[in-house]
Amino acid sequence: MSRLTTSKISDRVYLIDTLAIGDRNTVAAYLLKGSKLALVDVGYASSADVVLAGLKELNVEPSDVDYLIPTHVHLDHGGGTGHLLERMPKAKVIAQERGVPHLIDPSRLVQSATSVFGEEMIRRFGTPKEVPAERITAVGEEMHLELGGLSLTAIHSPGHAPHQISVYVEEEKVLLAADAVGIMYPSLGVLIPTTPPPSLNPEQLSSTAEKLSQLDPKLLLAPHFGVRTDPKRVLAETTVKTNEWVAETREMKKRGLSADAIAAELKSGVLREAGLQAGDFPRYADVSVRTNVMGIMHYLEKNP
Ligand SMILES: [Zn+2]
Repeated sequence: MSRLTTSKISDRVYLIDTLAIGDRNTVAAYLLKGSKLALVDVGYASSADVVLAGLKELNVEPSDVDYLIPTHVHLDHGGGTGHLLERMPKAKVIAQERGVPHLIDPSRLVQSATSVFGEEMIRRFGTPKEVPAERITAVGEEMHLELGGLSLTAIHSPGHAPHQISVYVEEEKVLLAADAVGIMYPSLGVLIPTTPPPSLNPEQLSSTAEKLSQLDPKLLLAPHFGVRTDPKRVLAETTVKTNEWVAETREMKKRGLSADAIAAELKSGVLREAGLQAGDFPRYADVSVRTNVMGIMHYLEKNP
């Protein structure tokens, strides 16, 4: 890897761009360095080598890593867990208890993701490897973890997915918010929700945002993508935008619009807000919008 994929956020916090299916600035992993080392989110299975190269750039050997913390089991966050573990002899996995069965046996998760993204995309994302159960510690509502000089709290953060945690770093007042916050691709410049199928719950998403806001974080690290200095605003905007997209989709669905037509409408709203022309809309953002509509439609089947 000739190009730099990492950036320093503080002496103890680093970003690794996982270069998801070849795209920069879309899926981040974060390295937390106390006397022990933790990697929060690991990217797609197909990004495992990029993540290892990123760690090397930060002078971290795979055998130095103590914890892998996939914030949830969606393939862009937890997909590479099993692949990396094979290279990291002492690493343990910290994950929300509802996600644990999918780390141990990813087959249902892969099946569900294939129905959303199609086989070609799944091939590009890579297939997760099974994670040995004895290497996983499950998080319920909350769990504290000492890295030596850094105290982490893993916090159950449902809404986007029931098996999601975010991570708060006490000493740095940094919140690694997982997909409890919307997507903020630097190329787009505006926040869009992240509401994929199959278990979106907007009410929970909003109470999670409220709960995380009360931590009063100074810095927010988003998986999609990067550092924000206005965490409370991002969390509040995520709730507002998610509710707007759900309401707009509900209304368009009632008018009989197809998922494609709804996605096109929402996309033109994003283009207007971002001040971009249709041709400037990034391909990966296009995928995000379509996936969001699928998730909201799925939610509306049960909550018309
Ligand atoms: Zn994600």
